[in-house]
Amino acid sequence: MRVLLIGSGGREHALAWKIAASPLLTKLYAMPGNPGIGREAELVKLDIANHAAITAFCKDKAIDLVVVGPEGPLVAGIADDLRAQDIRVFGPSKAAARLEGSKGFTKDLCARYNIPTAAYGRFSDLALAQAYVEKMGAPIVIKADGLAAGKGVTVAMTIDEARAALAACFDGSFGTAGAEVVVEEFMTGEEASFFCLCDGVTALPFGTAQDHKRVADGDTGPNTGGMGAYSPAPVMTPEMIDRTMREIIEPTMRGMAELGAPFSGVLFAGLMITDNGPKLIEYNTRFGDPECQVLMMRLKDDLLVLLNASADGQLAHMSVRWRDEAALTVVLAARGYPAAPEKGSVIRGVEEAAKDGVQIFHAGTAINSGALVANGGRVLNVTATGKTVGEAQKKAYAAIDEIDWPQGFCRRDIGWQAIAREQT
Ligand code: ATP
Repeated sequence: MRVLLIGSGGREHALAWKIAASPLLTKLYAMPGNPGIGREAELVKLDIANHAAITAFCKDKAIDLVVVGPEGPLVAGIADDLRAQDIRVFGPSKAAARLEGSKGFTKDLCARYNIPTAAYGRFSDLALAQAYVEKMGAPIVIKADGLAAGKGVTVAMTIDEARAALAACFDGSFGTAGAEVVVEEFMTGEEASFFCLCDGVTALPFGTAQDHKRVADGDTGPNTGGMGAYSPAPVMTPEMIDRTMREIIEPTMRGMAELGAPFSGVLFAGLMITDNGPKLIEYNTRFGDPECQVLMMRLKDDLLVLLNASADGQLAHMSVRWRDEAALTVVLAARGYPAAPEKGSVIRGVEEAAKDGVQIFHAGTAINSGALVANGGRVLNVTATGKTVGEAQKKAYAAIDEIDWPQGFCRRDIGWQAIAREQT
């Protein structure tokens, strides 16, 4: 099979690594990719916003399957444009990607299908939104409706903070993403990520994970794209997975089909596990980054077989097998991340550090005069497996200590919640 992978992060490096291990693969291209992905795939420099150019490339190279990593191209309708030219795609249509692209759309779907989630209001008028906030009281959550790269959400502990967040949404801080706002009840519990592979009809559970969004140890400091993750998430017991499938995922699949937008690709549910069971925080319509890295390390089966089954509507006949091990990934970021990461510093010792159940996935890296350099905020994902999360953590940090990169940093406590559980 000839496959094109779209994206350039650690998530896509993990996907490329797993796809490249498939006996079905004859040729892998990646667009635009990164130096790590370049070891698994031939890199193609095309603008991923130019769907016509991508379609022409797929025709020219006789691509059998396109795998789309990030949400941007999905929300922009790349899957529709490729399918219109009979090119097979792993990923949702533009209409189905609204589950991620519009928080208001998802909340309305939840209301219609009785899917447990926070109580909410949708507003395109500042005064009405403020009145709702006053009525509900703090703490309360303010969300720009559209894609805002994880920055459009404020968990406001006071009414004043909520007012400021509403003002920021309506004054254009998030562009068109903030033209509409969702105001939500504040939920308490433990958060977990739950993944399904979907084919329009069937949703196949595809693992659990937990991530660390804050930049510093102890879950402090500003929010980031994610500083680390581990899988499985201990809070997602078989009973909790059953409930999540029955109460959240299956009604979503039914609802999307009834709306004429059947969902295929990865459905990634951000959950709050409350005293009353799982509640949906949000949907993403692609793998998480860095959650994908830990899932790929644990997946026993051939990923390409599963992606094909999703693209062809054949998931009802499939099952997924996992290694009986935990996986943990630590993000190495460039000094200054998330506000202003420094670019260009040289990183040494990466190849030597990857051994004994450790994979190092590249994210924001580049090659400059033959040297590996930092070229983004999140730069490397050091990912390890172990009998326990604690063992995986030890291996990941041992590998990190072998990497020579004074201008990089990482959190030193990834996995703390799960490790505390393992020790009791
Ligand atoms: P990301 O892209 O980073 O996953 P996002 O911008 O799409 O995030 P959400 O996942 O909806 O936004 O919210 C970000 C975080 O805010 C959640 O992980 C959770 O910690 C917190 N949060 C969101 N909604 C609620 C809620 N109703 N109650 C409590 N906390 C919430």
